[in-house]
Amino acid sequence: MIEARELTKRYGDKTAVDRLTFTVRPGLVTGFLGPNGAGKSTTMRMILGLDAPSSGTVTVNKRRYDRLAAPLREVGSLLDAKSVHGGRSVRQHLLGLARSNAIPRSQVDAVLDRVGLSEVANQRAKGLSLGMGQRLGIAAALLGDPEVLILDEPVNGLDTEGIRWIRALLKSLAVQGRTVFLSSHLMSEMELTADRLIVIGRGRLLADTDMREFIETHSQGTTLVRTADSEAERMRQLLERAGGTVRLDARGGWRVAGIPPATIGELAREHHVAVHELTPLFSSLEEIYTTMTRTSVEYRGSTQDTKELIP
Ligand code: ADP
Repeated sequence: MIEARELTKRYGDKTAVDRLTFTVRPGLVTGFLGPNGAGKSTTMRMILGLDAPSSGTVTVNKRRYDRLAAPLREVGSLLDAKSVHGGRSVRQHLLGLARSNAIPRSQVDAVLDRVGLSEVANQRAKGLSLGMGQRLGIAAALLGDPEVLILDEPVNGLDTEGIRWIRALLKSLAVQGRTVFLSSHLMSEMELTADRLIVIGRGRLLADTDMREFIETHSQGTTLVRTADSEAERMRQLLERAGGTVRLDARGGWRVAGIPPATIGELAREHHVAVHELTPLFSSLEEIYTTMTRTSVEYRGSTQDTKELIP
């Protein structure tokens, strides 16, 4: 569990993180979302004791990071995959970390296997591709079998197969009851991976919510309606007469806004139109997020600010 309370970080007169209060719970994958410069990395650095808060607190399993006796065994993190001593081999890098955290050597081979790096274990870290380097960073995060995982942009540099792999890995770690906290600027990826969502902008909390609930609440509420071609025009007229806004959907059928699906079904029955498909359509996380960051009062700063905040 990660708990931030009124967490604040100022650099001179710039407030990077502004009174953030949130809880990241075990058993779930929680996504951390915000435009560039929103304060995600600064928040993660404070959780990991790499930056001191200007005010407020953040704890991992109820303790400050610097009070943890064996940090790697409680919190695994991936902040910058490039922060590896390039001259060492993949295995040496992990052995060094294991030794300094009293983690058994056997764990090194276990994590190498888990992240698919066994075959390159003796290669120098600096020769690794971006994707392999990312896997090594994830191996280091998993080394101490920690209860809490904090990953900053973990899918950076991974190919499609690698992205699928990490999605499955993170979900399985959450199912085991671990706390998984990750940031990503790839929203489609976040939508597929995270169960919960914490959204920040300009260092402030914009949303702390269940992913499905967030999408359902903020979706535009349109419905796809399909009938036989011969009845399509009549259906359109009925929908418009009932106050709906009707557009032709790219996949065929009508995309209807302004009338809930149940009412559409009733309307069709009343007028003896056979409905072949009636599907509520949700916006993607990306669509909602873009609208949110465009319209949020938080973002109506100067043009300069807006440029910085909209990705
Ligand atoms: P994100 O990870 O969401 O892109 P960051 O946490 O990196 O955002 O940055 C938040 C804000 O704090 C940015 O405006 C950034 O320029 C500023 N910032 C981050 N680190 C420093 C620092 N060491 N000194 C001054 N400003 C910083």
